[in-house]
Amino acid sequence: MSKKGIQSMNIHEYQAKEVLRRYGVATLRGKVANSAEEALKVAQDMGGNLWVVKAQIHAGGRGKGGGVKIAKTVEEVKTLAGKMIGMNLVTHQTGPEGKQVQKVYIEEGCNIAKEYYVACLVDRVTGRVTVMASAEGGVDIEEVAAERPEAIVKVIVDPATGLMPYQARHLAFQIGLPAESVNKATQFFVGLYKAFIDCDCSIAEINPLVLTKEGQVLALDAKMNFDSNALFRHPDIMEYRDLTEEDPTEVEASKYDLAFIKLDGSIGCLVNGAGLAMATLDIIKLHGSTPANFLDVGGGASKEKVTAAFKIILKDPNVKGILVNIFGGIMNCETLALGVVMAVKEIGMSIPLVVRMEGTNVAKGKEAFAKSNLNITVAENLSDAAEKAVALTKK
Ligand code: GDP
Ligand code: MN
Repeated sequence: MSKKGIQSMNIHEYQAKEVLRRYGVATLRGKVANSAEEALKVAQDMGGNLWVVKAQIHAGGRGKGGGVKIAKTVEEVKTLAGKMIGMNLVTHQTGPEGKQVQKVYIEEGCNIAKEYYVACLVDRVTGRVTVMASAEGGVDIEEVAAERPEAIVKVIVDPATGLMPYQARHLAFQIGLPAESVNKATQFFVGLYKAFIDCDCSIAEINPLVLTKEGQVLALDAKMNFDSNALFRHPDIMEYRDLTEEDPTEVEASKYDLAFIKLDGSIGCLVNGAGLAMATLDIIKLHGSTPANFLDVGGGASKEKVTAAFKIILKDPNVKGILVNIFGGIMNCETLALGVVMAVKEIGMSIPLVVRMEGTNVAKGKEAFAKSNLNITVAENLSDAAEKAVALTKK
């Protein structure tokens, strides 16, 4: 899954396992380490004769990318942790630039008999929580879903009852867990569902869920994302936020309460209202270019907020021009114009700026731009604005 940022907060595997244990979801023993020495100490304290060293980054696919390694001695734990910490881990989920590993999770090993998949998520069609499970775990579930959707079993949960034990048993049998492990799986699934609801998750995914040779049912990996709109109810989960894993501009934007998502194109957009922002992205595409970001400054944005937003856009080296598209309702056009002018005066601007404004105080807004002596192209309408922005940035 791709961009999260403003709607959803991601946490590390070791943190997700901490949360899940509180709900009776079975996991292996493990501890996080920030250095090779710490990793050695963790492995020594843990004891045993097999450890797994796992890179903690906010992305999956670590196994294939070299971020999950097995160690047979504590010295090997130390060596592997030393190599992993500081490495730039590239997986199919990090993008080609990869992510720098800062911590590793040291977990005791186990005897895997088979890997499965289970996840709770909100199904948009039914508007209910769905629990999905599959006998094909450990691999890319997106691939399974695309090629063999019948290999995925789903139950839809009635919010009034929660996940019923019979539904959990149904899932366990359908994915082929042996009868003697079904009770353990039932407890696992019910616990996972409870964690999902209690913590206001947007997804809770266990891939792989493993059956061990001893008949245990365990979460070998864990991914939990949380609905940002509900995080105020979970100060303990908010503590897990790792800003170093998030896009720095998105972090900066969240300080000003701006809805900002970085995209890969070259035209920076400053818009008020999510719908108008979406329309702006579409029309840029229609005219043959690509947007550099989604940015909704909101309905009642102040001059300071507009200034902050404009600065964030200007920091992106990919931005070749900016399109400001404002419909002044609660926010008036003059506020917008003053905010933009203030930002440009503070940090300068060498790229073209196209403005389309309508609504409250539009005349005063245009006047403020005219008085500023800045090189601003004022457009007639949205389509004209997009056309001009595309033309100016293609030069
Ligand atoms: P991901 O690649 O980022 O999804 O990381 P996972 O935690 O899912 O690990 C990838 C794979 O490594 C799993 O599917 C397992 O096959 C393997 N693995 C992870 N933990 C263990 C473990 O404790 N013991 C063994 N033998 N293999 C493990
Ligand atoms: Mn996994």
